[in-house]
Amino acid sequence: MSAILQNITVLGSTGSIGVSTLDVIRRHPDRYRAFALCAHSQVDKLFEQCLEFKPRFAVLRDAALAAQLADRCSFAGLDTEVRYGVASLVELSALPEVDAVMAAIVGAAGLEPTLAAARAGKKVMLANKEVLVMAGELFMHAVREHGATLLPVDSEHNAIFQSLPGDFSRGLVECGIQKILLTASGGPFRNTPMADLGNVTPDQACAHPNWVMGRKISVDSATMMNKGLEVIEARWLFDAPPEMIQVVVHPQSVIHSAVQYVDGSVLAQLGNPDMRTPIAYAMAWPERIAAGVEPLDLFKIAHLDFMAPDFERFRCLQLAYDVLREGGTAPAILNAANEIAVAAFLDGQLPFLGIASLNEAVLQSLPAGPEGSLADVLAADAEARQLARKMVQERRFA
Ligand code: NAD
Ligand code: MG
Repeated sequence: MSAILQNITVLGSTGSIGVSTLDVIRRHPDRYRAFALCAHSQVDKLFEQCLEFKPRFAVLRDAALAAQLADRCSFAGLDTEVRYGVASLVELSALPEVDAVMAAIVGAAGLEPTLAAARAGKKVMLANKEVLVMAGELFMHAVREHGATLLPVDSEHNAIFQSLPGDFSRGLVECGIQKILLTASGGPFRNTPMADLGNVTPDQACAHPNWVMGRKISVDSATMMNKGLEVIEARWLFDAPPEMIQVVVHPQSVIHSAVQYVDGSVLAQLGNPDMRTPIAYAMAWPERIAAGVEPLDLFKIAHLDFMAPDFERFRCLQLAYDVLREGGTAPAILNAANEIAVAAFLDGQLPFLGIASLNEAVLQSLPAGPEGSLADVLAADAEARQLARKMVQERRFA
Protein backbone atom coordinates (compact mmCIF):
# COMPACT_ATOMS: atom_id res chain seq x y z
CA MET A 1 0.00 0.00 0.00
CA SER A 2 1.50 3.34 -0.92
CA ALA A 3 1.09 6.16 1.58
CA ILE A 4 -0.45 9.51 0.65
CA LEU A 5 2.17 12.21 0.10
CA GLN A 6 2.11 14.70 3.00
CA ASN A 7 3.18 18.32 2.64
CA ILE A 8 5.25 19.44 5.61
CA THR A 9 6.13 22.96 6.70
CA VAL A 10 9.38 22.83 8.65
CA LEU A 11 9.69 25.78 11.03
CA GLY A 12 13.39 26.02 11.91
CA SER A 13 14.66 23.81 9.07
CA THR A 14 18.31 24.82 9.49
CA GLY A 15 18.45 23.89 13.21
CA SER A 16 19.32 20.63 14.86
CA ILE A 17 15.72 19.29 14.82
CA GLY A 18 15.07 20.78 11.38
CA VAL A 19 18.06 19.00 9.84
CA SER A 20 17.05 15.69 11.46
CA THR A 21 13.51 16.18 10.16
CA LEU A 22 14.81 16.69 6.63
CA ASP A 23 16.88 13.55 6.99
CA VAL A 24 13.73 11.53 7.76
CA ILE A 25 11.91 13.21 4.84
CA ARG A 26 14.88 12.34 2.58
CA ARG A 27 14.48 8.67 3.50
CA HIS A 28 10.76 8.64 2.58
CA PRO A 29 10.21 10.72 -0.55
CA ASP A 30 7.08 8.70 -1.33
CA ARG A 31 5.45 9.80 1.95
CA TYR A 32 6.68 13.32 2.68
CA ARG A 33 7.41 16.51 0.83
CA ALA A 34 9.14 19.55 2.31
CA PHE A 35 6.52 22.13 1.37
CA ALA A 36 7.97 25.16 3.17
CA LEU A 37 11.41 25.53 4.75
CA CYS A 38 11.72 28.32 7.31
CA ALA A 39 14.89 29.64 8.93
CA HIS A 40 16.14 32.74 10.66
CA SER A 41 19.28 34.00 8.93
CA GLN A 42 21.36 31.11 7.55
CA VAL A 43 21.05 31.87 3.84
CA ASP A 44 23.71 29.39 2.69
CA LYS A 45 22.27 26.47 4.60
CA LEU A 46 18.70 27.23 3.55
CA PHE A 47 19.80 27.53 -0.08
CA GLU A 48 21.46 24.09 0.10
CA GLN A 49 18.21 22.70 1.53
CA CYS A 50 16.21 24.38 -1.25
CA LEU A 51 18.49 22.81 -3.87
CA GLU A 52 17.93 19.36 -2.44
CA PHE A 53 14.27 19.47 -1.34
CA LYS A 54 12.85 21.97 -3.88
CA PRO A 55 10.25 23.35 -1.46
CA ARG A 56 7.33 25.43 -2.73
CA PHE A 57 8.26 28.19 -0.21
CA ALA A 58 11.30 29.28 1.78
CA VAL A 59 11.25 31.88 4.55
CA LEU A 60 13.95 34.02 6.18
CA ARG A 61 13.93 36.74 8.84
CA ASP A 62 13.94 39.87 6.71
CA ALA A 63 13.61 41.29 3.20
CA ALA A 64 17.36 41.66 2.60
CA LEU A 65 18.10 38.01 3.43
CA ALA A 66 15.07 36.86 1.44
CA ALA A 67 16.27 38.82 -1.61
CA GLN A 68 19.68 37.11 -1.41
CA LEU A 69 18.05 33.69 -1.27
CA ALA A 70 15.55 34.51 -4.02
CA ASP A 71 18.42 35.55 -6.34
CA ARG A 72 20.27 32.34 -5.70
CA CYS A 73 17.16 30.19 -6.15
CA SER A 74 16.24 31.83 -9.44
CA PHE A 75 19.83 31.56 -10.71
CA ALA A 76 19.69 27.83 -9.90
CA GLY A 77 16.41 27.49 -11.79
CA LEU A 78 14.31 26.70 -8.69
CA ASP A 79 10.61 27.60 -8.48
CA THR A 80 10.80 28.16 -4.73
CA GLU A 81 9.00 31.34 -3.68
CA VAL A 82 10.99 33.19 -1.01
CA ARG A 83 9.18 35.06 1.76
CA TYR A 84 10.21 36.76 4.98
CA GLY A 85 8.95 37.61 8.46
CA VAL A 86 6.57 36.25 11.07
CA ALA A 87 3.43 36.86 8.99
CA SER A 88 4.80 34.46 6.36
CA LEU A 89 5.60 31.83 8.98
CA VAL A 90 2.04 32.12 10.24
CA GLU A 91 0.57 31.90 6.74
CA LEU A 92 2.70 28.94 5.65
CA SER A 93 1.77 27.02 8.81
CA ALA A 94 -1.91 27.30 8.00
CA LEU A 95 -2.30 27.03 4.20
CA PRO A 96 -4.82 24.40 3.06
CA GLU A 97 -2.10 22.45 1.16
CA VAL A 98 -0.13 21.91 4.37
CA ASP A 99 -0.75 18.55 6.06
CA ALA A 100 1.71 18.81 8.93
CA VAL A 101 3.94 21.37 10.61
CA MET A 102 7.21 20.57 12.33
CA ALA A 103 7.50 23.22 15.06
CA ALA A 104 11.27 23.41 15.52
CA ILE A 105 12.03 27.09 15.95
CA VAL A 106 13.87 27.73 19.19
CA GLY A 107 12.23 29.87 21.86
CA ALA A 108 9.28 32.25 21.96
CA ALA A 109 9.67 33.11 18.25
CA GLY A 110 7.90 29.84 17.42
CA LEU A 111 4.72 30.63 19.34
CA GLU A 112 2.70 32.48 16.71
CA PRO A 113 3.27 30.14 13.74
CA THR A 114 2.76 27.03 15.89
CA LEU A 115 -0.46 28.46 17.28
CA ALA A 116 -1.54 29.27 13.71
CA ALA A 117 -0.95 25.62 12.73
CA ALA A 118 -3.10 24.44 15.66
CA ARG A 119 -5.84 26.93 14.79
CA ALA A 120 -5.80 25.64 11.21
CA GLY A 121 -6.37 22.09 12.55
CA LYS A 122 -3.05 20.77 11.26
CA LYS A 123 -1.00 17.85 12.44
CA VAL A 124 1.45 19.69 14.72
CA MET A 125 4.73 17.96 15.55
CA LEU A 126 5.97 19.91 18.53
CA ALA A 127 9.67 20.23 19.35
CA ASN A 128 9.43 23.91 20.30
CA LYS A 129 8.55 23.32 23.97
CA GLU A 130 8.59 27.04 24.75
CA VAL A 131 5.17 27.25 23.04
CA LEU A 132 3.59 25.14 25.79
CA VAL A 133 5.61 26.82 28.52
CA MET A 134 4.46 30.27 27.47
CA ALA A 135 0.90 29.59 26.47
CA GLY A 136 0.00 26.03 27.44
CA GLU A 137 -3.65 26.69 28.16
CA LEU A 138 -4.20 28.80 25.06
CA PHE A 139 -2.37 26.37 22.81
CA MET A 140 -4.10 23.22 24.11
CA HIS A 141 -7.44 25.00 23.80
CA ALA A 142 -6.64 25.80 20.13
CA VAL A 143 -5.65 22.17 19.51
CA ARG A 144 -8.96 20.89 20.92
CA GLU A 145 -11.15 23.60 19.44
CA HIS A 146 -9.81 23.21 15.90
CA GLY A 147 -9.31 19.45 15.88
CA ALA A 148 -5.52 19.65 15.42
CA THR A 149 -3.45 16.51 16.01
CA LEU A 150 -0.65 17.22 18.47
CA LEU A 151 2.36 14.90 18.48
CA PRO A 152 5.23 15.50 20.89
CA VAL A 153 8.72 15.45 19.39
CA ASP A 154 10.68 16.22 22.55
CA SER A 155 12.21 12.79 23.21
CA GLU A 156 10.84 12.47 26.75
CA HIS A 157 7.32 13.48 25.81
CA ASN A 158 7.42 11.28 22.76
CA ALA A 159 8.45 8.39 25.04
CA ILE A 160 5.62 9.18 27.45
CA PHE A 161 3.17 9.40 24.55
CA GLN A 162 4.35 5.98 23.38
CA SER A 163 3.93 4.55 26.91
CA LEU A 164 0.43 5.95 27.51
CA PRO A 165 -2.80 4.26 26.45
CA GLY A 166 -4.30 5.68 23.25
CA ASP A 167 -7.28 7.19 25.06
CA PHE A 168 -5.32 9.00 27.81
CA SER A 169 -7.27 12.20 27.18
CA ARG A 170 -10.07 10.78 29.35
CA GLY A 171 -7.75 11.40 32.33
CA LEU A 172 -4.50 9.92 33.62
CA VAL A 173 -6.00 8.71 36.91
CA GLU A 174 -8.94 7.17 35.05
CA CYS A 175 -6.39 5.30 32.92
CA GLY A 176 -4.75 3.82 36.03
CA ILE A 177 -1.68 6.05 35.87
CA GLN A 178 0.14 7.03 39.05
CA LYS A 179 3.16 8.90 37.79
CA ILE A 180 5.00 10.19 34.81
CA LEU A 181 8.73 9.48 35.16
CA LEU A 182 10.50 12.20 33.20
CA THR A 183 14.12 11.22 32.70
CA ALA A 184 17.00 13.71 32.59
CA SER A 185 20.66 13.12 31.82
CA GLY A 186 21.72 15.74 34.36
CA GLY A 187 23.78 17.48 31.68
CA PRO A 188 27.54 18.06 31.59
CA PHE A 189 27.77 19.48 35.15
CA ARG A 190 25.98 16.79 37.12
CA ASN A 191 29.14 16.03 39.11
CA THR A 192 31.12 19.26 38.71
CA PRO A 193 32.04 20.72 42.13
CA MET A 194 29.78 23.70 42.89
CA ALA A 195 32.84 25.92 43.38
CA ASP A 196 33.86 25.31 39.75
CA LEU A 197 30.45 26.09 38.24
CA GLY A 198 31.06 29.84 38.46
CA ASN A 199 33.75 29.66 35.78
CA VAL A 200 32.35 27.27 33.20
CA THR A 201 32.41 28.50 29.60
CA PRO A 202 29.65 28.39 26.96
CA ASP A 203 31.51 25.65 25.07
CA GLN A 204 31.73 23.52 28.21
CA ALA A 205 28.02 24.07 28.87
CA CYS A 206 27.14 23.12 25.28
CA ALA A 207 29.15 19.88 25.35
CA HIS A 208 26.24 17.63 26.28
CA PRO A 209 27.34 14.11 27.24
CA ASN A 210 24.70 12.28 25.13
CA TRP A 211 22.87 14.61 22.73
CA VAL A 212 24.00 17.00 20.00
CA MET A 213 21.56 19.93 20.04
CA GLY A 214 21.24 23.66 19.39
CA ARG A 215 23.12 25.95 21.80
CA LYS A 216 20.12 27.31 23.67
CA ILE A 217 18.71 23.92 24.63
CA SER A 218 22.24 22.70 25.41
CA VAL A 219 22.70 25.47 28.00
CA ASP A 220 19.20 24.73 29.31
CA SER A 221 20.27 21.10 29.77
CA ALA A 222 23.35 22.21 31.70
CA THR A 223 21.21 24.30 34.11
CA MET A 224 18.41 21.70 34.01
CA MET A 225 16.09 24.54 32.99
CA ASN A 226 15.38 22.27 30.03
CA LYS A 227 13.95 19.64 32.37
CA GLY A 228 11.96 22.34 34.14
CA LEU A 229 10.50 23.49 30.81
CA GLU A 230 9.74 19.83 30.07
CA VAL A 231 7.85 19.42 33.35
CA ILE A 232 5.63 22.32 32.25
CA GLU A 233 5.39 20.82 28.75
CA ALA A 234 4.25 17.48 30.25
CA ARG A 235 1.66 19.22 32.42
CA TRP A 236 -0.07 20.56 29.31
CA LEU A 237 0.46 17.70 26.87
CA PHE A 238 -0.86 15.05 29.24
CA ASP A 239 -3.00 17.17 31.58
CA ALA A 240 -0.82 16.00 34.48
CA PRO A 241 -0.68 17.88 37.79
CA PRO A 242 2.88 18.76 38.91
CA GLU A 243 2.75 16.18 41.76
CA MET A 244 2.36 13.44 39.16
CA ILE A 245 5.52 14.43 37.27
CA GLN A 246 8.68 12.95 38.79
CA VAL A 247 12.05 13.92 37.35
CA VAL A 248 14.49 10.99 37.37
CA VAL A 249 18.17 11.61 36.64
CA HIS A 250 19.36 8.88 34.30
CA PRO A 251 22.82 9.75 32.95
CA GLN A 252 22.89 7.27 30.04
CA SER A 253 19.81 8.74 28.25
CA VAL A 254 18.66 5.29 27.13
CA ILE A 255 15.26 5.30 28.82
CA HIS A 256 13.66 8.41 27.31
CA SER A 257 10.89 8.48 29.96
CA ALA A 258 8.31 6.14 31.49
CA VAL A 259 4.80 5.87 32.85
CA GLN A 260 4.00 4.15 36.17
CA TYR A 261 0.62 2.40 36.48
CA VAL A 262 -1.44 1.41 39.56
CA ASP A 263 -0.90 -2.30 38.98
CA GLY A 264 2.86 -1.92 39.44
CA SER A 265 3.73 -1.82 35.74
CA VAL A 266 6.15 0.76 34.44
CA LEU A 267 6.09 1.22 30.66
CA ALA A 268 9.06 2.96 29.13
CA GLN A 269 10.48 3.76 25.71
CA LEU A 270 14.18 3.05 25.15
CA GLY A 271 16.51 3.82 22.31
CA ASN A 272 19.77 5.44 21.33
CA PRO A 273 19.79 9.19 21.88
CA ASP A 274 18.95 10.25 18.32
CA MET A 275 16.12 12.71 17.68
CA ARG A 276 15.25 11.03 14.40
CA THR A 277 13.39 8.36 16.43
CA PRO A 278 10.79 10.72 17.97
CA ILE A 279 10.68 12.79 14.76
CA ALA A 280 9.91 9.71 12.64
CA TYR A 281 7.39 8.51 15.21
CA ALA A 282 5.56 11.85 15.10
CA MET A 283 5.70 11.98 11.30
CA ALA A 284 4.34 8.48 10.70
CA TRP A 285 2.08 8.04 13.75
CA PRO A 286 0.29 5.70 14.22
CA GLU A 287 2.56 3.82 11.83
CA ARG A 288 6.32 3.29 12.17
CA ILE A 289 8.95 4.11 9.59
CA ALA A 290 12.73 3.69 9.39
CA ALA A 291 14.63 6.67 10.79
CA GLY A 292 18.26 5.77 10.13
CA VAL A 293 18.88 5.25 13.87
CA GLU A 294 21.40 2.67 15.13
CA PRO A 295 19.62 -0.20 16.90
CA LEU A 296 20.00 -0.15 20.67
CA ASP A 297 22.63 -2.61 21.86
CA LEU A 298 21.70 -3.54 25.44
CA PHE A 299 24.84 -5.64 25.88
CA LYS A 300 27.00 -2.66 25.04
CA ILE A 301 25.07 -0.46 27.48
CA ALA A 302 25.30 -3.16 30.20
CA HIS A 303 23.84 -1.05 33.03
CA LEU A 304 21.55 1.90 33.65
CA ASP A 305 21.71 4.34 36.58
CA PHE A 306 19.01 6.42 38.23
CA MET A 307 19.09 9.12 40.90
CA ALA A 308 16.94 11.89 42.35
CA PRO A 309 17.49 15.42 41.01
CA ASP A 310 19.45 17.89 43.12
CA PHE A 311 17.18 20.95 43.38
CA GLU A 312 19.84 23.02 45.15
CA ARG A 313 22.42 22.56 42.44
CA PHE A 314 19.82 22.97 39.68
CA ARG A 315 17.81 25.95 40.93
CA CYS A 316 16.16 26.44 37.52
CA LEU A 317 14.38 23.10 37.92
CA GLN A 318 12.85 24.29 41.20
CA LEU A 319 11.84 27.61 39.58
CA ALA A 320 9.96 25.68 36.89
CA TYR A 321 7.92 23.74 39.48
CA ASP A 322 7.27 27.05 41.29
CA VAL A 323 5.92 28.85 38.20
CA LEU A 324 3.86 25.83 37.23
CA ARG A 325 2.14 25.95 40.61
CA GLU A 326 1.71 29.72 40.35
CA GLY A 327 0.20 29.48 36.84
CA GLY A 328 -1.00 32.36 34.65
CA THR A 329 1.83 34.23 32.95
CA ALA A 330 4.48 33.08 35.49
CA PRO A 331 5.86 30.36 33.15
CA ALA A 332 6.02 32.86 30.25
CA ILE A 333 7.95 35.28 32.48
CA LEU A 334 10.42 32.56 33.46
CA ASN A 335 10.80 31.45 29.85
CA ALA A 336 11.49 35.00 28.63
CA ALA A 337 13.98 35.75 31.43
CA ASN A 338 15.72 32.47 30.71
CA GLU A 339 16.04 33.19 26.98
CA ILE A 340 17.75 36.50 27.77
CA ALA A 341 19.90 34.90 30.47
CA VAL A 342 21.06 32.08 28.18
CA ALA A 343 21.82 34.51 25.33
CA ALA A 344 23.80 36.70 27.77
CA PHE A 345 25.72 33.67 29.04
CA LEU A 346 26.52 32.51 25.49
CA ASP A 347 27.67 36.07 24.77
CA GLY A 348 30.01 36.22 27.78
CA GLN A 349 27.84 38.80 29.59
CA LEU A 350 26.62 36.58 32.41
CA PRO A 351 28.32 33.81 34.39
CA PHE A 352 26.75 30.35 34.32
CA LEU A 353 25.33 30.59 37.85
CA GLY A 354 23.92 34.02 36.96
CA ILE A 355 21.32 32.33 34.74
CA ALA A 356 19.34 30.97 37.69
CA SER A 357 19.87 34.18 39.71
CA LEU A 358 18.60 36.36 36.86
CA ASN A 359 15.58 34.11 36.29
CA GLU A 360 14.72 34.24 39.98
CA ALA A 361 15.16 38.01 40.21
CA VAL A 362 12.89 38.64 37.21
CA LEU A 363 10.22 36.34 38.66
CA GLN A 364 10.41 38.14 41.99
CA SER A 365 10.07 41.57 40.37
CA LEU A 366 7.18 40.88 38.00
CA PRO A 367 3.79 39.75 39.27
CA ALA A 368 2.13 37.11 37.10
CA GLY A 369 -1.28 37.80 35.61
CA PRO A 370 -3.82 35.42 34.10
CA GLU A 371 -2.71 33.70 30.85
CA GLY A 372 -5.74 35.17 29.07
CA SER A 373 -5.12 35.93 25.40
CA LEU A 374 -2.08 35.71 23.16
CA ALA A 375 -1.66 39.48 23.65
CA ASP A 376 -1.43 38.99 27.45
CA VAL A 377 1.22 36.30 27.02
CA LEU A 378 3.24 38.38 24.56
CA ALA A 379 3.02 41.43 26.85
CA ALA A 380 4.31 39.41 29.83
CA ASP A 381 7.06 37.99 27.62
CA ALA A 382 8.10 41.47 26.42
CA GLU A 383 8.10 42.95 29.92
CA ALA A 384 10.18 40.09 31.32
CA ARG A 385 12.70 40.36 28.47
CA GLN A 386 13.06 44.09 28.98
CA LEU A 387 13.69 43.70 32.70
CA ALA A 388 16.09 40.79 32.17
CA ARG A 389 18.07 42.81 29.59
CA LYS A 390 18.28 45.74 32.01
CA MET A 391 19.58 43.46 34.75
CA VAL A 392 22.21 42.06 32.38
CA GLN A 393 23.26 45.58 31.35
CA GLU A 394 23.50 46.67 34.98
CA ARG A 395 25.72 43.61 35.49
CA ARG A 396 23.62 42.63 38.52
CA PHE A 397 24.84 39.04 38.50
CA ALA A 398 28.22 39.44 36.80
P1 NAD B 1 18.62 25.25 16.83
O1 NAD B 1 19.16 26.47 17.47
O2 NAD B 1 19.58 24.21 16.35
O3 NAD B 1 17.68 25.64 15.61
C1 NAD B 1 16.69 26.62 15.71
C2 NAD B 1 16.03 26.85 14.36
O4 NAD B 1 15.06 27.91 14.52
C3 NAD B 1 16.98 27.31 13.25
O5 NAD B 1 16.53 26.79 12.01
C4 NAD B 1 16.80 28.84 13.24
O6 NAD B 1 17.05 29.39 11.97
C5 NAD B 1 15.33 28.96 13.60
N1 NAD B 1 15.03 30.22 14.27
C6 NAD B 1 15.60 30.72 15.39
N2 NAD B 1 15.05 31.91 15.72
C7 NAD B 1 14.10 32.15 14.78
C8 NAD B 1 13.21 33.23 14.55
N3 NAD B 1 13.17 34.30 15.35
N4 NAD B 1 12.37 33.14 13.48
C9 NAD B 1 12.42 32.08 12.66
N5 NAD B 1 13.25 31.03 12.83
C10 NAD B 1 14.08 31.07 13.87
O7 NAD B 1 17.59 24.61 17.89
P2 NAD B 1 17.19 23.08 18.08
O8 NAD B 1 18.14 22.43 19.00
O9 NAD B 1 16.87 22.47 16.77
O10 NAD B 1 15.84 23.25 18.92
C11 NAD B 1 14.63 23.67 18.33
C12 NAD B 1 13.50 23.48 19.34
O11 NAD B 1 13.36 22.09 19.59
C13 NAD B 1 13.76 24.13 20.69
O12 NAD B 1 12.57 24.61 21.21
C14 NAD B 1 14.28 22.99 21.54
O13 NAD B 1 13.99 23.16 22.92
C15 NAD B 1 13.49 21.82 20.98
N6 NAD B 1 14.15 20.51 21.14
C16 NAD B 1 15.37 20.27 20.57
C17 NAD B 1 16.00 19.05 20.74
C18 NAD B 1 17.32 18.74 20.08
O14 NAD B 1 17.79 17.61 20.18
N7 NAD B 1 17.96 19.67 19.40
C19 NAD B 1 15.37 18.05 21.51
C20 NAD B 1 14.13 18.32 22.06
C21 NAD B 1 13.51 19.56 21.88
MG1 MG C 1 13.90 16.62 25.85
